[in-house]
Amino acid sequence: MSCIFCRIAEGDMDADVVSSDDHVIVIRDIDPKAPTHLLVLPRRHVASIDEAADDGELVARVMRVARDAARAEGLDDGYRLVTNVGEHGGQTVPHLHVHVLGGRHLGWPPG
Ligand code: AMP
Ligand code: ZN
Repeated sequence: MSCIFCRIAEGDMDADVVSSDDHVIVIRDIDPKAPTHLLVLPRRHVASIDEAADDGELVARVMRVARDAARAEGLDDGYRLVTNVGEHGGQTVPHLHVHVLGGRHLGWPPG
């Protein structure tokens, strides 16, 4: 299994796991871009939201867990959810994940 997020979900690769349930796992990003930087990923391999968008149950699960994780981190002043798609979107790991970024003011637009 070459997908690193599948390996983390399977427990075959170490990660700083914040929470997990039967469907979704939350880890801390190894190279944080903000004081809080989490990644929310489904256990099941799916390449990106471009592929997953029709699976409403999966999308709702991932977004609900992202919201819950932001609340648990105390991001009361706001936060950003980002999911990159493909090369131009800046996606480097081809397994769907939502970034939860917070703990500082985030500029807009992104570079
Ligand atoms: P993206 O560029 O949107 O595909 O995001 C991939 C993210 O995964 C980046 O922010 C990386 O820092 C992060 N990342 C890569 N490998 C690991 C890992 N082993 N554990 C935690 N985060 C990782
Ligand atoms: Zn995967």
